[in-house]
Amino acid sequence: MQKSKVYLLLGSDTGDKKKHIDDAADLVKNEIGEIITESSMYVSEAWGFDSDTVFFNKVIVVETDLNAFEILDITQKIEVRLGRTHKTIGKYQSRTIDIDILFYDDTIIETPRLTVPHPQIQNRRFTLLPLAEIASDFVHPVLHKSILLMLKECNDNSNVELAVC
Ligand code: ADP
Ligand code: MG
Repeated sequence: MQKSKVYLLLGSDTGDKKKHIDDAADLVKNEIGEIITESSMYVSEAWGFDSDTVFFNKVIVVETDLNAFEILDITQKIEVRLGRTHKTIGKYQSRTIDIDILFYDDTIIETPRLTVPHPQIQNRRFTLLPLAEIASDFVHPVLHKSILLMLKECNDNSNVELAVC
């Protein structure tokens, strides 16, 4: 059977952020599938909550035999394993590692547990910039806009830069 491509956003804003993202990518590789493309590492202002620290973010594209719900189960276990203790309730807060499922092929999923494409992609520069680096022509299956067009139209002015690692 043809494998699927899942686009994951890895984010960290506490401790050794780069290591958390590298560790998460290693676990994804072992448990979900081969990483066929990855963006550079980006540094972003914390988004949606006050924090004096910054986020590190990276997007990876993984080839997988698993379905999106199996992937969510695994990424949530990886979050716990890497030390994330709090779920987001109402507002944003610091986390060792956050793994969001951005796209799963062209699949559209709307359930209480899982929404794919991730509902915030078009609103967040820290997601669109790494996505644009590796998949600028990918078309959002709900909005029918390419990553590049969504980046052009995005109103988020927060600062996102390539990380110096
Ligand atoms: P956030 O990523 O918005 O900071 P969390 O990582 O705490 O918040 O996720 C909250 C819930 O969002 C998870 O328990 C998960 O069930 C749900 N969720 C819905 N859609 C997605 C998605 N595309 N990727 C990851 N989690 C999702
Ligand atoms: Mg998340």
